[in-house]
Amino acid sequence: MKHFDYIIIGGGIAGLIAAYFFKDKKILLIDKKGILQGASGAAGAFLFPKISKKSSYTDFINNSIITAFEFYENLGIDTHKKGVLILPRDERDIEKFKEYEKYIKLPYEKRGDGFFFEDGGFIEVDEVREKIKVPFLKEKVELIKKDGDFWRVNDLLAKNVILATGYEDLIDIPYIKIRPVWGERIEISGEWRVESEELNFFYHKNCSVAKVKERLRIGATHKRNCLECRENEEEAIELIQKAKEVVDIKSYRIEDIKGGFRAASVDYFPIVGEIIDVNKTLNLQPKIVKGEIPKYLEYKKGFYIINGMGGRGFSNAVMCAKMLKNYIENRSNLGKIDTKRLFIKWARKEGEKFLKTI
Ligand SMILES: Cc1cc2nc3c(=O)[nH]c(=O)nc-3n(C[C@H](O)[C@H](O)[C@H](O)COP(=O)(O)OP(=O)(O)OC[C@H]3O[C@@H](n4cnc5c(N)ncnc54)[C@H](O)[C@@H]3O)c2cc1C
Repeated sequence: MKHFDYIIIGGGIAGLIAAYFFKDKKILLIDKKGILQGASGAAGAFLFPKISKKSSYTDFINNSIITAFEFYENLGIDTHKKGVLILPRDERDIEKFKEYEKYIKLPYEKRGDGFFFEDGGFIEVDEVREKIKVPFLKEKVELIKKDGDFWRVNDLLAKNVILATGYEDLIDIPYIKIRPVWGERIEISGEWRVESEELNFFYHKNCSVAKVKERLRIGATHKRNCLECRENEEEAIELIQKAKEVVDIKSYRIEDIKGGFRAASVDYFPIVGEIIDVNKTLNLQPKIVKGEIPKYLEYKKGFYIINGMGGRGFSNAVMCAKMLKNYIENRSNLGKIDTKRLFIKWARKEGEKFLKTI
């Protein structure tokens, strides 16, 4: 039986970058569909800041953007960093934007009711696939279980496993709920005009719009829990309507439609870290369900997760993989992305019921 230091399950952007960060070890990335298929294969892969009132979530997103640009550029991946103009969606948003301005930390320029950031760009998924190479196996994982000091993954053994399966539940982790959010990214050819620019930079309003070669690329993810959603022209036309709010599209032909489910956590932050052994932790400290702060947590040693990348997987994945590596090697703090925040909340709400069932 083959042995690895790390098996990473899920070859989306989260799994691929996590694998890359551990490339100095004996690793294997496994995906049933291939590398960067899933949500990652559908994404517009836009990289751009977030604006909001003071918020640790926005700080996380914007730090991730800077880290991601640096990461991709060091690998020679073109980030098409020509800037992004973020525009308010409606009248209410115009008022909010005025309030947000004082919290913006990245360099920006006010343009009309919106803000222009030089830290805006996009990457091509095909180029990422080409430039980030890691040992890979195309296979569906059906079994993960502890086997002595190892984890058994199908018929392979690994000291550590990293779960990066996106919106799909491979195993039940009671305190982690991932919500699928459907979105589409399309490309159109045709005739269009923008007021003042030649679309050198890209726009973000109700969707992201960029000129890519001679086409317009338009992307948005917005439909929560719509498991019956599929790629279709009706949705593509909905996207084109949104794009028309920023670009005067006179005629178009739909050249490509890609759809997918991105994985969102309940509090929007990514979910990263070692998986908690819920049974053991609650049995040893049953008062946690009554609200007591856990004195310690029992973990499923060597079993990690990197998920909940939200609508910003191409930037979040870099920061999350970097933090996961630091956590594993140096026990550094994972802060707000740590899975334990979800455990504590879940235990107070559902822990008692769970204890009765075991
Ligand atoms: C239409 C659309 C547009 C988007 N636009 C952007 C954007 O502009 N910028 C941005 O940063 N983000 C964007 N996103 C979000 C981004 O795509 C996601 O956050 C990111 O791709 C999530 O990556 P992931 O690796 O977590 O999941 P995924 O890419 O879904 O990868 C999970 C992988 O796990 C594999 N898997 C699951 N179960 C198993 C199993 N049992 N065995 C083997 N393999 C398994 C799946 O096959 C899949 O390939 C967009 C998403 C969509 C859908």
